[in-house]
Amino acid sequence: MRVNTLKRAAVAFALALPGAAIATVVAAPAAHADGCYTWNRTLTQGRSGDDVRQLQIRVAGWAGYRDIVENDGRYGPKTAAAVKRFQQAYGLRADGIAGPQTFAKLYQLQDNDCTPAHFSYSELDNGCGGSGWSGGPVSASQTKQNALRTMWKLEALRRGLGDKPLYVSSGFRSRACNNQVGGASDSQHLYGNAADVTSRTSSLCQIARNARNNGFSGLYGPGYPDHDDHVHVDSRRENNSDRSSNTTSWSAPDCGVGN
Ligand SMILES: [Zn+2]
Repeated sequence: MRVNTLKRAAVAFALALPGAAIATVVAAPAAHADGCYTWNRTLTQGRSGDDVRQLQIRVAGWAGYRDIVENDGRYGPKTAAAVKRFQQAYGLRADGIAGPQTFAKLYQLQDNDCTPAHFSYSELDNGCGGSGWSGGPVSASQTKQNALRTMWKLEALRRGLGDKPLYVSSGFRSRACNNQVGGASDSQHLYGNAADVTSRTSSLCQIARNARNNGFSGLYGPGYPDHDDHVHVDSRRENNSDRSSNTTSWSAPDCGVGN
């Protein structure tokens, strides 16, 4: 019966939330308790807060050509444009406003550990067979946070390629791991900020060309030394802990990709 169903839902909902949260939730457009993160208000330009920051992580891959979405918790024009591209990509009304429909799609895409549907922490921590998130130049929690943003960008890249699987052959590498595989001394892999990507269905050049739209400021592929069997993507512009300047660096000469 309808009444009983509603009552059961209300009880389950109340159990899932601590008392203090109820007042906020009552004003929300749609009740939803997500295992990872729940948004409690519609977000538009001018808003700021941790809920904006959480949104920015998830739309980072929809930054548009050669651009990035700052993870600053401020809903500016770039965040709105990224939300709009996300909405377009998933067939939602594209208004650049993050409301119930947009959040419903994000809930559908995110797993309980906040990773996107098609990528996992274990896949990003496979540099030398899985070593956890420590052993790099920044804290383990920062490294893991970087890896999460990398995955949301990869999810956007994957969507743009027609939902065809992508494989991460190397993600985070501790210093020891990076030395072992002969990585660059200040590699973005050390920060959880990079992924080496392959595919069985998309050509490496397709991946490299598409990735220019997904918030990746570092991009190396076919024609760049040692990058003929994978595409390297990273977020060097957002990395304030490395020694390089926060600029874009792209090179995949065989694919017509360059700075
Ligand atoms: Zn790489």
